[in-house]
Amino acid sequence: MHIRKQRLLTPGPTPLYPPALHAMMASDIHHRTEDFRQVYRACLADLKEVMGTAHDVLLFAASGTGAMDAAVSNLFSRGDKVVVCSAGKFGERWAEIAKAYGLEADVLTVPYGEVVTPRQVAEALERQPAAKGVFVQASETSTGAAHDVQGMAAAVAQTGAIFVVDAITGLGTMPLDIDRWGLDVVIGGSQKAFMIPPGLAFMSVSPKAWKLADSATLPHYYFNLKKEKKSGDAGESSWTPATALVLALAEALRYVKRLGMARLIENAQLLALATRAAAAKLGLELFAPGSPGSSVTALKAPAGLDSGVIVKEFRSRFGAIIANGQGSMKGKIFRIAHLGYFDFADLFATIAALEIILNANGHPVPYGAGVAAVQETCAHAMAAPAAV
Ligand SMILES: *Cc1c(COP(=O)(O)O)cnc(C)c1O
Repeated sequence: MHIRKQRLLTPGPTPLYPPALHAMMASDIHHRTEDFRQVYRACLADLKEVMGTAHDVLLFAASGTGAMDAAVSNLFSRGDKVVVCSAGKFGERWAEIAKAYGLEADVLTVPYGEVVTPRQVAEALERQPAAKGVFVQASETSTGAAHDVQGMAAAVAQTGAIFVVDAITGLGTMPLDIDRWGLDVVIGGSQKAFMIPPGLAFMSVSPKAWKLADSATLPHYYFNLKKEKKSGDAGESSWTPATALVLALAEALRYVKRLGMARLIENAQLLALATRAAAAKLGLELFAPGSPGSSVTALKAPAGLDSGVIVKEFRSRFGAIIANGQGSMKGKIFRIAHLGYFDFADLFATIAALEIILNANGHPVPYGAGVAAVQETCAHAMAAPAAV
């Protein structure tokens, strides 16, 4: 009661993998030395391996948005026609970046909680045959919805456009077959399923995207994909890298490789499945019931209860930080994260705490009803033969 451990239960930053955190203490290292080049090379190679791609992978000292910005400023020219899929706050970010750089964006907007369909993308590309790019979120973290990236990719691949995927919470929570599906640019961030603090972003770049870079004329300086590729080939970054984070990333990637990306994904999927089962038992509605993703589950607060109260009570009663809704969803939904270093014990605690909070705020639920649903999912998964 009186001791409240701080628990970070948000979809970014996520709980840290302790050995990665400890690795950061060795950052009294210079970045233009062979010792550091070894670590940097390992990060690039391991990122390629866990992302499952033969494409080039680049690393940036930035939060995820930096890599989104870099994708636009390096691959496009002012006035280029593009298609933006916007299903939430992060889709809106693509539209804002495109606008900031003077691209002509056809923005396919769907209500929060819904998704843009491959059919809509195909139709937009028919309307706009000269489109140079299509932008999407694999997982729209603000609503908990996941896009049919494979279906969209099939439509994009038949055109001259490149497919740019913000997979910042998609990587490690859903299968993404970058090379076979035709995902030209795939962006990830350190503070999501990669279990380390914010500050690193990475990006895979396909040959089709590199070709577009050759004719792109937008100005850029710090984020220079070609320069970064050249530096990376030499085991270095173009500028002073975030050395502590690179050390952490190397450690976290060793763990993800040992675990296997498929198991990391399955872990998030099982936690999401269990959370949905618990929500049903507690009478809580999903915010994105049509295509719920596995990075985060967005739940509607019960009628008459502001989701901000639930968020506040998690903090005041249990020291736990969970995510409120963003923008106009604030106060209406709360979000339970599953990506990266989350396990079933975390979820038992989260749902047990939620039951106490609901009961204390005028929404009686039977104690243990949600927890039992999580336990059943867990026990069932443990009894089943390993899926991977
Ligand atoms: C976290 C996140 C980002 C990046 O946000 P930063 O604050 O720049 O790291 C982008 N897209 C999605 C879908 C995200 O979840």
